[in-house]
Amino acid sequence: MKHFVILGGGYGGVTIANTLLKGNMPSDIRLTMIDRMPYQTMKTEYYALAAGTASDVELRVPFPVHQNLNMKYGEVSSVDLENKKVIMENDDPVYYDQLVIALGCTDRFHGIPGAEEYACTIQSMSAVRQTYQVLNDTKPYGRVNIVGGGLSGVEIAAELRESRPDLNIALIDRGSRVLSAFPPKMSAYVEKWFHEHDVETLSHISISSLEPGVIHTTGDDIISDATVWTAGIQPVEIVQKLDVPKDHQGRVLLNEYYQIPEHPEVYVCGDCASLPFAPSGQAAEGQGEQIGHIALALWRGETPRLSPIKLKGTLGSLGKKAGFGLMGKRQVMGRVPRILKSGVLWMSKHHFG
Ligand SMILES: Cc1cc2nc3c(=O)[nH]c(=O)nc-3n(C[C@H](O)[C@H](O)[C@H](O)COP(=O)(O)OP(=O)(O)OC[C@H]3O[C@@H](n4cnc5c(N)ncnc54)[C@H](O)[C@@H]3O)c2cc1C
Repeated sequence: MKHFVILGGGYGGVTIANTLLKGNMPSDIRLTMIDRMPYQTMKTEYYALAAGTASDVELRVPFPVHQNLNMKYGEVSSVDLENKKVIMENDDPVYYDQLVIALGCTDRFHGIPGAEEYACTIQSMSAVRQTYQVLNDTKPYGRVNIVGGGLSGVEIAAELRESRPDLNIALIDRGSRVLSAFPPKMSAYVEKWFHEHDVETLSHISISSLEPGVIHTTGDDIISDATVWTAGIQPVEIVQKLDVPKDHQGRVLLNEYYQIPEHPEVYVCGDCASLPFAPSGQAAEGQGEQIGHIALALWRGETPRLSPIKLKGTLGSLGKKAGFGLMGKRQVMGRVPRILKSGVLWMSKHHFG
């Protein structure tokens, strides 16, 4: 038997497992997926759990159940590429013939002193649970600063406004506008929503350090009862420590089959992989489906047929009633994109379930 091991049961890992299970895997392949959690979590909704508008259980989706899939729960510590083994925390190593690394991302603090120690984060379920506690225990009329005006920062600021009307909320960015990766018209719409809902947007702020209760900047200090960090991501530490070629964002460079060129038995998927677009759940799923088909074709001795990954666009929420979206060049703002986003979440949950 050959052991095919998937590290990480997120958007990428689960899609690969489902693709393999539907695709007539050869009978000599043993499939194992390893995750620290006993269920998949809907990472795209972490902002709602942090703010307190969604419950923990609403974000959980059962892993696929199939006689040919062995689920293993535990913490992966490292990958030994030379000896083809996965080192587990407090458990025996797992040996593989083929491996997928789909462990997602963690925060990037840009070397700012105190950021890691004093800011709350939202890149893992465990971190989000702690952030929920801090945000919802913040004293009445306290001040919460969200650092980073990208999609996650915008969604969490808006959701927190709905959850805690009493709080003073500010969204801080070092650029000139929120959602700098989106068209200016969309940023203007979002900034107007924030203005109408009493969320401050602070631009051109360069943070120099964090201490308990205060954010130091190159200008004035900013008082902060709670700070949420959404100002950058990078692949998880396990991937950071892998001695393989990477792009400038720390993502692993891959060949046409999404394998590490020096280790073609290892695929890398999702936020850990160097892809020609920004990390997203959609990209992880699109790539995951391709990796599944590639593995099936190679097992059959066929040449995999590949087409470019197609992304459908991005949808963001401003609380429960408004949203924004970009589909190709088409910009949508208001209630419709919010309804679409709820629909996408529903489909995503049921697909995985
Ligand atoms: C607030 C927020 C909103 C977002 N909104 C969108 C959106 O609207 N659309 C979109 O496309 N994308 C969105 N994203 C991005 C998207 O969630 C990620 O790009 C996507 O989850 C990446 O998928 P992945 O499979 O690479 O990793 P993940 O889905 O993060 O899966 C990684 C898995 O690995 C497991 N794991 C990690 N480390 C270990 C370890 N050491 N041991 C064992 N298990 C481990 C984790 O438990 C997890 O199950 C959003 C992200 C955030 C934070």
